[in-house]
Amino acid sequence: MKNPGNVESSEPNYDRQSMVESQLKTRGIRDERVLKAMATVPRELFVQEGHRKQAYADCALPIEHEQTISQPFTVACMCQALGLTGNETVLDVGTGSGYAAAVLSCLAAKVFTIERIPELAATASDRLQQNGFSNVVVTTGDGTRGWPEHAPYDAIVVAAGGCDLPPPYVEQLRESGRIVMPLGRDNSRQNMVRFQKNNGTITREHLGTFVFVPLIGDFGWAANSP
Ligand code: SAM
Repeated sequence: MKNPGNVESSEPNYDRQSMVESQLKTRGIRDERVLKAMATVPRELFVQEGHRKQAYADCALPIEHEQTISQPFTVACMCQALGLTGNETVLDVGTGSGYAAAVLSCLAAKVFTIERIPELAATASDRLQQNGFSNVVVTTGDGTRGWPEHAPYDAIVVAAGGCDLPPPYVEQLRESGRIVMPLGRDNSRQNMVRFQKNNGTITREHLGTFVFVPLIGDFGWAANSP
């Protein structure tokens, strides 16, 4: 695991540890590296000031621009499903607060994260750099197009609910790579799906039902869809 600048010296992590014990271990998160990353990254740095006390609550929380920071269990579940070992290059679509990118930075060699709302991307980028998550690069753009400049990726994780698997992800995924993304026509409830590329063929596996904000873009929902 990397040693992000301020992580070791952050304030008491009792809530963080109890979040790991009560919300993650009890619900099937077994990957020791994921548990360690979740126990290390200070989620309070990524929530709005007024929500600091709920930073380790078992729920998503609102962030700016009507978006959310995902529930801790959701982040852990997606990270575990990627099966990262530490050497990978990961594309994270939907930077939001930057929290999931920070967790991924402890699990992979390099994280490229893309956010469609410029203000969120800028805040997340500053936050990640100031707190020592130096293997994360943030950009603004339509993440349904992936980020071709840094492809191929060993893993792609999408933190917003799409209508279908965007073709650019398949093109930008390395052989044997994995994509974890929520999908569903119902805009308020999605199935988390893990895709794997084997000999150029994509297989899919359902991981459960979750709730995400919509993935908006050329290969996602229209910005004005209900
Ligand atoms: N991973 C985030 C975190 O840890 O805070 C949670 C992000 S929130 C659930 C989903 C984010 O996806 C929102 O910030 C939203 O603006 C972003 N988003 C939606 N469509 C997108 C797209 N096409 N490209 C990039 N980001 C997108």
